[in-house]
Amino acid sequence: MTGSINQIFNQKVYYEIRLESIGGLGANLCGKMIGELAVRYLNLNSAGFSSYGSEKTGTPVKGYIRFCPPEQEIRVHSPVVSPDLLVIFHQALMRDENTWKGCGRQTQVIIASDHGQEEMMGNLPEAIGDCYVVDARQIAMETKSRINVIMLGAMAKVMGFVSQESARQICRDSLGRKYPAALEGNLKGIDRGYDEVRQLSKAEIALFKSRLEKENVPSGTGSAQEWGYVTAPIGGVNPRFGSTVTADLSPSRQGYIPVFIKERCINCGLCDSTCPDMVFQFAEGEFKGRKMMVNRGLDYYHCKGCMRCVDVCPVNALVRGTEAEHADKQYFLPNQDMLRAPDYYVKTGPDGYITSESYLTEKRIEGGEV
Ligand code: SF4
Ligand code: SF4
Repeated sequence: MTGSINQIFNQKVYYEIRLESIGGLGANLCGKMIGELAVRYLNLNSAGFSSYGSEKTGTPVKGYIRFCPPEQEIRVHSPVVSPDLLVIFHQALMRDENTWKGCGRQTQVIIASDHGQEEMMGNLPEAIGDCYVVDARQIAMETKSRINVIMLGAMAKVMGFVSQESARQICRDSLGRKYPAALEGNLKGIDRGYDEVRQLSKAEIALFKSRLEKENVPSGTGSAQEWGYVTAPIGGVNPRFGSTVTADLSPSRQGYIPVFIKERCINCGLCDSTCPDMVFQFAEGEFKGRKMMVNRGLDYYHCKGCMRCVDVCPVNALVRGTEAEHADKQYFLPNQDMLRAPDYYVKTGPDGYITSESYLTEKRIEGGEV
């Protein structure tokens, strides 16, 4: 764990944190809470902001937070390039080399990693500081809280100069006012994040790395995108029109999926008009002797687990299920209609994220057959 705050500021001007997340996991709010905590309870100056795309859920989110002594003004408002603390809200992000940019031996890392999926730790760069893991999703499900408060508790523990009680208090101050009914679960989440975050030993990391090599699983940390907004040719076009259909939103899910019970479905279409991500696959068919559009299933690649469809279904043909218990999704139907060639999706698979639990249990690393 990090030393006292005075020791830190004897050596450097700012203490800098970078949050690496996916929209929907609550990193933006987590960043705000930790920044506010520093001002209110540590008597520090703090500044922070997040960057995210147009779509709130399912896209990459980064949070940047800086602390400094109270007598010093914060005049830097740019992204944190070389973080002292890197917090990864989903292990799938370990495969993206951008996640690790600017990190070095000075960087402590906390990773929200599901139990049983430690092989992802083989993707840790060689030159990195102490690494910590916490099974944030499982804890969030058990405490009925969200991943962000688990990570807040874990951050307090790893930073060392932030007390567990101040993390609880900032949660009461912010979430407690807005969502009083959820406060108890959130406080439990903070406590468990604080208590259950654990440091990986060097031997463990070496073991994960050797396992990764043995199983010939490609490391994700060498897969930088060839083109970005700086390097793309002027006037270039995206030849993969509709390429978002190959994007995989399943890392956004927080342990739950909508389970389809087809026998109950009355094909009213409410789920389809409610779902923000065109998950439902309707096609012409017959229902009770009448020709109509029939719900054939869900493209779980695109489902971010918001559960709006479950709320809206009038006959409980969609129910909330635990993802781990439904690795075999009976009505999983990839969206073939949006593809140029129907087999394109199946061959290519999703866009490179190893995703949530379902992916690893189904061995669909790097895509492949559904
Ligand atoms: S809302 Fe429910 S009943 Fe209506 S089409 Fe969707 S799954 Fe079927
Ligand atoms: S949970 Fe339901 S509404 Fe939300 S993205 Fe998935 S299918 Fe669509």
